[in-house]
Amino acid sequence: MQEILDEIVATIGASDDRGKVADYIPQLACVDPNQFAITVALADGRVFSSGDSERLFSIQSISKVFTLTIALGKLGDAVWSRVGREPSGDPFNSIVQLEHEQGKPRNPFINAGAIAIADAILMGHQPKETLAEILQFVRFIADDDSIGIDEKVAQSELLTGDRNASLAHFMASFGRIKNPVDCVLGTYFHHCSIAMNTEQLARSGLFLVDNGRNPVTGTRVVSTQRARRINSLMLMCGHYDGSGEFAFRVGLPGKSGVGGGILAIAPGTASIAVWSPGLDEVGNSKLGTEALEKLVQHTGWSIFG
Ligand code: GLN
Repeated sequence: MQEILDEIVATIGASDDRGKVADYIPQLACVDPNQFAITVALADGRVFSSGDSERLFSIQSISKVFTLTIALGKLGDAVWSRVGREPSGDPFNSIVQLEHEQGKPRNPFINAGAIAIADAILMGHQPKETLAEILQFVRFIADDDSIGIDEKVAQSELLTGDRNASLAHFMASFGRIKNPVDCVLGTYFHHCSIAMNTEQLARSGLFLVDNGRNPVTGTRVVSTQRARRINSLMLMCGHYDGSGEFAFRVGLPGKSGVGGGILAIAPGTASIAVWSPGLDEVGNSKLGTEALEKLVQHTGWSIFG
């Protein structure tokens, strides 16, 4: 495994076309696109990394997997009255479907859906309390108490978040947001600004590898059925309008973020985190996807056999 990862890092390092870093969030625009990291956390507890695997990056939309998991824990199936579970086929920050579908986002992973989920877990609490709860959950599943939020990224998102504010207000106009919009957005921007390295991120996905139970710590996080459902949503919706392409090329449930990270799950086998800040046209890590494609070719981990 170490050889495979080192080879991937060497190939990726030689790549000229690294994609484009997200520049609509100024704090992400200054990240060096030449960085790359990959970590594989196996179900048996072994962890392999190569590249800049200790460097922290902004997990951005990957956090939506964690907030969805928390929302399912609090609301159960009532979550599905707030958001759908269909691929959107539209960009992550699109507003068009919301009007046709009365303010109900297609799925919990597009921005509108994740904002609706942030509203659902706030339940009248202060954003600070909810963020503490989200952080506590992420630290628990990653088994690492050092994980925190990059406040500079959160402020940067807040200052340039007109599109997300539009989505939130538009949903509120359909009566779909129950807490003050500012509180919902503050919660959303902050959970997107959680900073992790690939080692922490790979460990945080382990509960989705072993039927809802972290195979290393032995703790149960969600039921088997819930873990299956989260994985299926990641496969169908985790890469926005690039989800089909990701399933075609990689064949694993995965969730991307505009910070350039991807968390991918090989059920029963491994949790994989990659990070390369440059993005493709639809906002998914360009070289991160290529690295996962190579890893799956080497290991045969595609869920499609
Ligand atoms: N915080 C980012 C945003 O709202 C998340 C987008 C993403 O990672 N795709 O635009």
